[in-house]
Amino acid sequence: EAPGTEQELTDGFHLVIDALKLNGINTIYNVPGIPITDLGRMAQAAGIRVISFRHEQNAGYAAGIAGYLTKKPGVCLTVSAPGFLNGLTALAHATTNCYPMILVSGSSEREIVDLQQGDYEEMDQLAIAKPLCKAAYRVLHAQDIGIGFARAIRAAVSGRPGGVYLDLPAKLFGQVMNAEAGQKSLVKVIDAAPAQIPSPASVKRALDVLKSAKRPLIILGKGAAYAQADEEIKSFVEKSGVPFLPMSMAKGLLPDTHPQCAGAARSTVLKDSDVVMLIGARLNWLLSHGKGKSWGETPKKFIQVDIEPKEMDSNVEIVAPVVGDIGSVVSAFNQAIGAGWTAPADWTKAVSTKREENVAKMAPKLMNNKSPMDYHGALGVLKNVIKEYPEAILVNEGANTLDLARGVIDMYKPRKRLDVGTWGVMGIGMGQAIAAALETGHPVLAVEGDSAFGFSGMEVETICRYNLPICVVIFNNDGIYRGTDVNGANDDPATTVFVKGARYDKMMEAFGGVGVNATSPDELKRAVNEAMKSGKPTLINAVIDPAAGSESGRIGNLNPQSVLQKK
Ligand code: ADP
Ligand code: MG
Repeated sequence: EAPGTEQELTDGFHLVIDALKLNGINTIYNVPGIPITDLGRMAQAAGIRVISFRHEQNAGYAAGIAGYLTKKPGVCLTVSAPGFLNGLTALAHATTNCYPMILVSGSSEREIVDLQQGDYEEMDQLAIAKPLCKAAYRVLHAQDIGIGFARAIRAAVSGRPGGVYLDLPAKLFGQVMNAEAGQKSLVKVIDAAPAQIPSPASVKRALDVLKSAKRPLIILGKGAAYAQADEEIKSFVEKSGVPFLPMSMAKGLLPDTHPQCAGAARSTVLKDSDVVMLIGARLNWLLSHGKGKSWGETPKKFIQVDIEPKEMDSNVEIVAPVVGDIGSVVSAFNQAIGAGWTAPADWTKAVSTKREENVAKMAPKLMNNKSPMDYHGALGVLKNVIKEYPEAILVNEGANTLDLARGVIDMYKPRKRLDVGTWGVMGIGMGQAIAAALETGHPVLAVEGDSAFGFSGMEVETICRYNLPICVVIFNNDGIYRGTDVNGANDDPATTVFVKGARYDKMMEAFGGVGVNATSPDELKRAVNEAMKSGKPTLINAVIDPAAGSESGRIGNLNPQSVLQKK
C-alpha cells in the first residue's frame, strides 16, 4: 500500500481524551483497573494530569471539590461495579452539595449485563447512578463520545451545579472510526453555565423588603462562594451595612474579621433579626429549617437568592424569592439599591457589641499551653497559622474538631475553607486536601479528627507520591467524640474508642513524608510553621486529652434517645 492511502483512524480511548482536552479539563482523579487503565495512561501521555488514588471515594471527593473551586466539572474515573460504587458516595455528595462533578466509570458489556449472564463485574451502573445525580448518560458508540461529554459537562455546571454520571462500556474504548470524522464529532461546549438574569420585579421586591427591616441579616452560603462574584458581594454587603453571617464554607468570602461579620454573634442574629436575606444558602438542617428555637420569637421575613427555583418555600415561606445566578442578582442589587439606605445603626451596634464580647470570652482559652492539649489550646495555634498564611486552604473534618475549628479559625479569603458540607460527611479530608493543593497551587492545612482521618488515611501515600504541600494535623483524642468510653459488658473495647496513644505520624514517615508527634501547643506551632515553610508532606499527631470533646460535637441533639437505657 502506498503511504497516505490507508485511512487515518482514531478510537474510543483517544476520543475520550480529545473531548476532555477540547473542553479544558486538564485533570482526572482516578483509580486504575479494568477497563480504564490504558485510558489513564494515554490521558497522561496526552498531557492530562492523571492523579491516581488508593480508593475511588477519595478520588471522587477530590473531583467534587475541584469542581467547587474551579466552576469546571471535576472528573473522577473508576473501574466497573465495585470501583463505580466506591465513587458513587462522592457523586451523591457532589450532587447534595451542588458541586459540578462527572463520575466516569467503565462498565461491562450491555448484551451480557442486560441478560444477567454474569459478566466480569456485572452491574447496571446507569440505573443505580440515576437517583443520586443530576443526570446520567451512557455512550455506546465512538461517534457519540463528543455529545456524551458535552451533555455531561453542561448538566454538571449549568443551573444548580451537581454530579453527573457517564457510563462507558469497555467495548467503547477500542471502537475505531475515521479520525477526521472523529474530530468533527467532538463538541466544545459554548457557555456551559449561561447567566441567569433575575427578573427586575423580583429584585425590586427583595430590596423593598430589605429596606423595610429594622434588624436585617445577610446569610452567605457556599453557593455564594462558588459563584466567584466576590467583589459584587463585598460591595453589596458594605453598601447596605447589613451584618452578614457566613455559613461554614462561605467563611472568608468577606474576612471573618470584617466589622460587619456576625459569625461570633450567630445565635443573637438568628434570634433577633427581622429580615433575613439568604444568598446561596439553603434553609436546611444547618439553619434549623428556618424555624424553631434557634430562630427565636421575632417574626422573620425571608428573602432568598438562588439559582434553583424549587428551593424557594422549601421549609418556610419566602416573601421575596430571587431566582438567578448570584453574580447577576447581586450586581442587579448593587445597581438598584441606590444611596441613602443602610442598616439601622442601633442594630449593627448591638451585633458588633455582642460579637466583641464573644470574641473576648474565647481569647484566653486559645492561649492555654496545656499538655496533653485541649481543643482550644491546639486551635489557638492553628488560628494564628491561617492568619499568617491567609492563602493557605483549610480542610476540616471531625466532630469536635470540625465544630470548634469552624468557630475558632478565622478565614480571610474566599473558598479557602473546605469541609464536610451539607451531609457532615466524614472522609472528605485527604481527597479534598489533594485536589485543593493541585487545583490552587497553595499550601493546604488539613485539620482532622482522628476518626475522620481514618476514612481516607491511606491517601497519605498519594500525598507523598505527588509530593504535595499538605500538612495534616490529626487531633488525636483516642476515639470518636472522646477516647474515654468504657465497655462494661466484656473485654472488647468500647464502640467509640481507638488504640490508645496511636502514632499517626508514623504513617506519613512510612511513605517518606515528615511525621511529628506534638504534645503541646508550642510543639504543634513549631511543627506546623515548619511544614508551611517547607511545603513538604507532613503529618502531625496532635495529642489531645482523651476526655476533651463532647458527644457528636455541636449536634448531639440529633442522636435519638432510648427512654429505657440512660447513657
Ligand atoms: P450552605 O451549606 O453554605 O448553606 P447550601 O449548599 O445549602 O450552602 O446552598 C447553596 C445554594 O447555592 C444551593 O441552593 C444552590 O442552588 C445555590 N447556588 C449554587 N451556585 C449558585 C449560583 N451560581 N447562583 C445562585 N445560586 C447558586
Ligand atoms: Mg477523636
